[in-house]
Amino acid sequence: MQVDYIIVGFGLAGMAMSKELEDHGHSFVVLDNASQVSSRVAAGVFNPVILKRFTPVWNADEQLDNLFPFYTDISKRLGGEYLTFFETLKVFKSIEDQNNWFMACDNPLLEKYMNPKIIKEEVNGIHYFEGFGQVKGTGRVLVTKVLDDYIDYLKNKDQFLEIPFLHDELEINQDTINYKDITAKKIIFAEGYGLKENPFFNHLPLTGTKGEMLFIKAPELKLTQQIKSALFVLPVGDDIYWIGATFNWNDKTLDATEKGKAELLEKLNTMIDVPYQVINQFGGIRPTVKDRRPLVGKHSIHKNLIVFNGMGTRGVMIAPTVAKQLYQYLENNKSLPKEIDIERFKS
Ligand SMILES: Cc1cc2nc3c(=O)[nH]c(=O)nc-3n(C[C@H](O)[C@H](O)[C@H](O)COP(=O)(O)OP(=O)(O)OC[C@H]3O[C@@H](n4cnc5c(N)ncnc54)[C@H](O)[C@@H]3O)c2cc1C
Repeated sequence: MQVDYIIVGFGLAGMAMSKELEDHGHSFVVLDNASQVSSRVAAGVFNPVILKRFTPVWNADEQLDNLFPFYTDISKRLGGEYLTFFETLKVFKSIEDQNNWFMACDNPLLEKYMNPKIIKEEVNGIHYFEGFGQVKGTGRVLVTKVLDDYIDYLKNKDQFLEIPFLHDELEINQDTINYKDITAKKIIFAEGYGLKENPFFNHLPLTGTKGEMLFIKAPELKLTQQIKSALFVLPVGDDIYWIGATFNWNDKTLDATEKGKAELLEKLNTMIDVPYQVINQFGGIRPTVKDRRPLVGKHSIHKNLIVFNGMGTRGVMIAPTVAKQLYQYLENNKSLPKEIDIERFKS
């Protein structure tokens, strides 16, 4: 098989790059072995406001401008619906929280997303302290559904192989690379935390942060919005709520742990006051980076080896924009923004 590109990994990064290549008429094949699950366990939420500090998400406007057409195009291509919208309510625990909210509402980057009026009405099933702050422009991508539909679409065109990529079997030539019976001009590694096993790029400072989440069933909690406090509580239909997430920098396994569950339940019990039943628990490793920016660029010696990683805690918002930037860099010689270019770690 002869193609322009091989993509290793089909999470949010690999999918965004697949779409970008297809949009521009390039041939490619994807290899994935389901060894990482960050995208598949992600709640898929996009939110332009960091609710811990009431600060804007890095490049939020540009990322949202790219996110909506990205999923509208994918819906046309695959025939499914992958975006849902809801408002997010931040629980205010104190008057100080309210004051910080008011101050943040004056930030020109935040004013269109934050409602300056404090919501004083109680929300059924949620502990009330000092009211709520409302974030506009939030929603969720149905990540597993879109990945599964995209994989079926690529499989139908013989562009998706469910196999592990073994790095030591890659043959690198001046202008091409060979992997088993595939010859390509370039290879893009979008392996998430799997980058740690990649000898060409594992020197990059990918830290990896494990996140665990729960599904609970709570028929008396009639939420239509996402509630954010110590955790987020997100309705996903049929009285089921997504509860998350933990942040663990030491455990690099994908296992659901008793410790993770205990932490989630302790925090959840400070948020809701209706009965619930835990119905599922799962975990994954977010591909986080020391400086919280993506890792994108070419290998220092083998210029046909490319990395697309470091989506961190916000792959849903970041991946469509970074895929565009990477494409322009690879095919039209445009520079990568310095803050995502792996050149920043050269020393
Ligand atoms: C609990 C949790 C909740 C989250 N919630 C959100 C959220 O609400 N919103 C948001 O924007 N982000 C969220 N994130 C973060 C988001 O999931 C990540 O930013 C994103 O999924 C990273 O995508 P990726 O494609 O880089 O990596 P991954 O999703 O990990 O994909 C990498 C792919 O590469 C494959 N792979 C790796 N090595 C090989 C190999 N050698 N051969 C073949 N295939 C290989 C893996 O199987 C995998 O499919 C969350 C993450 C977690 C863990």
